[in-house]
Amino acid sequence: MDKFYRILIVDDNESIHEDIEEILTSRQQKRDSDLSNLEEMLFGNESDSEINPAVSDDVSYRIDHAYQGEESVKMVHLAEDEGDPYSLIFMDVRMPPGMDGVEAIKAIWDDFPYIEMVICTAYSDYTWDQIIKNLGITDKLLFMKKPFDATALKQMALSLTTKWELRQESIAYTDKLEHEVEERTKDLRQLVREFKLMKEKAEMATEVKSVFLANMSHEIRTPMNGIIGMNELLMDTDLTDEQRELSEMVQNSADMLLLLISDILDYSKMEAGKLEIENVPFQIKEVIEDVLDVIKFASYGKDLEISCKIESNVPDKLTGDPVRIRQILLNYGSNAVKFTDTGGVTFHVELLENSENECSIRFSVADTGVGIKKEKQEEIFKSFIQADTSTTRKYGGTGLGLAICSQLAELMNGEVGVESEPGNGSTFWLTIPLIDDELKHSEESEDIVISQSKADEEKIDLTILLVEDDITNQKLVIKILEKDGCSYVIANNGLEAVEAVKDKDFELVLMDIRMPDMDGYTATKKIRSMEAEGLLKGRTPIMAMTAHASPQERGRAQEAGMDEFIPKPINRELLLQMIRKVTKKDIGGQ
Ligand code: ADP
Repeated sequence: MDKFYRILIVDDNESIHEDIEEILTSRQQKRDSDLSNLEEMLFGNESDSEINPAVSDDVSYRIDHAYQGEESVKMVHLAEDEGDPYSLIFMDVRMPPGMDGVEAIKAIWDDFPYIEMVICTAYSDYTWDQIIKNLGITDKLLFMKKPFDATALKQMALSLTTKWELRQESIAYTDKLEHEVEERTKDLRQLVREFKLMKEKAEMATEVKSVFLANMSHEIRTPMNGIIGMNELLMDTDLTDEQRELSEMVQNSADMLLLLISDILDYSKMEAGKLEIENVPFQIKEVIEDVLDVIKFASYGKDLEISCKIESNVPDKLTGDPVRIRQILLNYGSNAVKFTDTGGVTFHVELLENSENECSIRFSVADTGVGIKKEKQEEIFKSFIQADTSTTRKYGGTGLGLAICSQLAELMNGEVGVESEPGNGSTFWLTIPLIDDELKHSEESEDIVISQSKADEEKIDLTILLVEDDITNQKLVIKILEKDGCSYVIANNGLEAVEAVKDKDFELVLMDIRMPDMDGYTATKKIRSMEAEGLLKGRTPIMAMTAHASPQERGRAQEAGMDEFIPKPINRELLLQMIRKVTKKDIGGQ
């Protein structure tokens, strides 16, 4: 198909119009002799016009004429508006009066920068340098001296119009690409919006699930308190062997259920990203002692030696999350006791690195128990994975504990791991960075060796104020206290507790948290301020009892002025041990 290129000739001299038009259109009627000679020279006699586009009949030009600079600018605008633009303009320089050629090119390029230009002149008012200065360096401008060489002019027109067309194609292609990219970007933006919405919905669902689980776990813990406590008391009575066995089964199932509830609560919180890591000053020694107290009870009935060594270079005071470190060590420790029948469990705390005010601490718990096969050692840190499913029946558990430890460690920027050999025990470790505020380290190594103490079996014999609104819980704690020789007074809420301490001196207050009329925190704060004002005789230790066993709750209890915190359901052994701990501390080793 023939191609038409639109060309504009701008010159005030009519004969130039005729010359150019004649040269550019002549090929359609007669072959230019110069061109034929050149053709023969280049391609030989057999050359044919098809292989030389300069003389091809495929290209023809539609030529328009302008005689002034202003007129040419108008015509270019008109052609663009009609959608039939000029590809090439032959522009004279001097066209008095009015706009000269260089000014006209400038005005045209301001709006249509891709039109090819040929400046034609016999002599110029402008040097080439001046033209470049005016129009800038460009590949769309050529210069042609009059009189014109017909072949050069034809060849120039052909190559410039072809160049213009290629540029138009590339512009169209770029526009098409840009349009496609824009469309795809639009689609992507829509997708991102949809994903965001889905993510928000999923996050909301997880949050609802987490709140539901938190509430349910609280609701389940309260009646569990009754079941576990009453069952413990039942086991203290005279039972036949069969009754005892059944009671023990109740206890085991209840313990497992409780563990499961705590694990699921923690796990769902972590899933919902709700579990926050605290950064508070604490003493490693206190955390370890706390863990050892609990582990000692867990090992009750097993002949295990439980010991601990804190290396001398471990800083006294560090900043981190003691509640979560305690939780990990408790999980390691109770697993160690669970999977060890003879030998012992050793806690070890070492300093790995100390730079500026941060140090890396390694906690490890080694046991002499059943050990874990190599291929299972990594697996067990994943959710719901147990090393040996055949032992689940014997040892119980959910397979969630170590997964929680691993995630907690990650939240604290730490790591967990295990070294173990089947039959030769396991060492579970945790390394975490902790802030060393004081840079003051103790000189001597501290060895804490825990052994089952006879003193623990002795009766307590204290006067206790029990603040609790739930009748079942009251009965449960009373039975424990009575059995151990304590006398007690009951207050049904915080208000009654505040009145009771005015009337009588107590050696200990056991304080529930959630109660009608006045809660445990407010009552504790009131009692502490009465003590500070000298209205009461001395300072009475107050121990919180609550089913909301969260770290936040523990923090609030301490803030209110409570000395200890015991989670519900109340475990008899733990309660007695904690009572001894706080009363000894506060009434001078009684
Ligand atoms: P659970 O103890 O509730 O099953 P964990 O995640 O705490 O869940 O432990 C996962 C598994 O890892 C356990 O079931 C047990 O097979 C293995 N395991 C953990 N600690 C020890 C240990 N000290 N000795 C032997 N096996 C262990």
